[in-house]
Amino acid sequence: MAGVSLRNLYKTYGKNSPYVVKDVCLDIEDGEFMVFVGPSGCGKSTTLRMVAGLERVSQGEIYIGDELMNHVPPKRRDIAMVFQNYALYPNMSVLENMAFGLRLRKTEKHLIDSSVKQNARTLEIEHLLERKPRQLSGGQRQRVALGRAIVRHPQVFLMDEPLSNLDARLRVQMRTEIVELHRRLGTTMIYVTHDQTEAMTMGSRICIMKDGVIQQVGVPEEVYMRP
Ligand code: ADP
Ligand code: ADP
Repeated sequence: MAGVSLRNLYKTYGKNSPYVVKDVCLDIEDGEFMVFVGPSGCGKSTTLRMVAGLERVSQGEIYIGDELMNHVPPKRRDIAMVFQNYALYPNMSVLENMAFGLRLRKTEKHLIDSSVKQNARTLEIEHLLERKPRQLSGGQRQRVALGRAIVRHPQVFLMDEPLSNLDARLRVQMRTEIVELHRRLGTTMIYVTHDQTEAMTMGSRICIMKDGVIQQVGVPEEVYMRP
């Protein structure tokens, strides 16, 4: 298990471009559910993508546990990421989608099978294992995306607006499921959303960003969000 530390983090997308993340300092504790919230364009995704290793850090440091991540390639970071558009492989079955990350890592087949089955049971998608993504509803696809992420037992979970493509009813249901899943797994979570209600109901702590900087960090009861 490991926390995530962001130390004086800066990001610019080009030499003469402005900083879109500015002096972000944050210690996310091991096992914590940290939500980044703020208006579109405030730098949430960029921050998350730097933690994932999908964007280069312009300045500052990112630690997972006590290991400096700045130059560690994404594949070697002990993280899993879930995006809003699921990004399942359309030609693979649910089972193959879930197994993919483990196969890449040359995990033994019987371990892959048992891990996929067990996690499919947890997410109640066992009956869907042979289907292709196009044969699933939005909510089922999002469960498969979650399943694909958890089979690897990552130390850190990164989620970027994972619910924003779902209809309102399902979105509320999945909030509870993700919080429950997190509780069961005990991993560190960094969850990005622009939805204040989502932030307030899901986060154990909330980090409010605006224009690339952190404005407030605290438990839901102590942060103030403008209505
Ligand atoms: P958020 O996730 O809060 O909506 P982002 O991190 O996506 O914000 O974006 C922060 C700022 O960086 C925005 O002004 C956005 O236009 C810019 N940005 C994001 N990605 C890129 C990119 N690949 N190239 C150039 N600018 C980008
Ligand atoms: P979100 O609202 O979910 O943050 P965006 O529409 O901001 O999504 O970004 C979607 C993708 O486009 C991201 O991969 C982001 O890095 C990229 N992007 C965002 N803004 C820019 C930009 N100004 N130039 C190039 N790429 C961008």
